Amino acid sequence: HMILPGARFGHFIIEKKVGSGSNGTVYRARSIEGRSTVAIKVLASALAKDSTVLTMFQEEARTGLELNHPNIVQTLYVGENNGIPYIVFEFVDGVSLGTLLQKGSLPQEHCLWILRQLAQGLRQLRQKQIVHQDIKPDNILIDKQGNAKLTDLGFARAARGKISWTGVAAGTALYISPEQARGLKQVDCRADIYSLGATIYHCATGSPPFDSINETELLKMHVEKAPVSALVRNPKLNREFAEILWKMLAKKPEERFEHPEELLLALRLINISATSPFAK
Ligand code: ADP
Ligand code: MG
Repeated sequence: HMILPGARFGHFIIEKKVGSGSNGTVYRARSIEGRSTVAIKVLASALAKDSTVLTMFQEEARTGLELNHPNIVQTLYVGENNGIPYIVFEFVDGVSLGTLLQKGSLPQEHCLWILRQLAQGLRQLRQKQIVHQDIKPDNILIDKQGNAKLTDLGFARAARGKISWTGVAAGTALYISPEQARGLKQVDCRADIYSLGATIYHCATGSPPFDSINETELLKMHVEKAPVSALVRNPKLNREFAEILWKMLAKKPEERFEHPEELLLALRLINISATSPFAK
């Protein structure tokens, strides 16, 4: 079922497809009066009858509406069109970090910039007691001013109260925390700190900490295998920066930074400057 340019979604008119994922498609759309551009994520119609998927989609929207931070893609509105739910987001004019990494590693000043921004986003998630559970390069968008924004709250769950499912998305095990890999249901912000560490490790060295075409093997590596130090993979890296990545990737949550604030403090002490990827 294709949605064509010109289709109406509430106040918005679809312009073009900008991405797709496990349970739906993302479009760029314009408001009817033409003043604003947004992104609309539409649940695949075949999945709109699946109550588990539907609940998760609604939870994604509800979680997003609780958040308001420059480093988290803003959720604006939730709607329904002929029984198909959709979520309206701010439109991020830029690229995903996943796309940027296809060209190889990033300069460490850019890595530090991105890490610092996302740690600030994580700080708000923690304030609201929300765990993202799927931090990875494809879920990070970088706009033309170089702002890094976390997106895709499809697996995000409130750490408060009951957690009914864990966020193990198929095919995303490259950045998964050891505790999620072990199937633990109660995970906290330290799981996000690990996945952010794995993501920035990829940025700084050109490859994720672990890699295998066998998913089970990959999960096992996250649980058991010590990563190769980022400094070994990229000897030009600042030593303290590599040590911060090492700590983010600790197997035991209690050996990582306890919360984003502590991570930000450590980042402030290292002796390299952070510069925006698209600064002129
Ligand atoms: P999925 O759950 O399908 O992975 P995502 O929210 O990660 O959905 O979106 C899939 C892709 O769509 C992203 O990688 C990105 O390329 C694009 N996209 C998502 N949200 C936006 C947005 N707000 N602005 C611009 N592009 C977006
Ligand atoms: Mg995604």
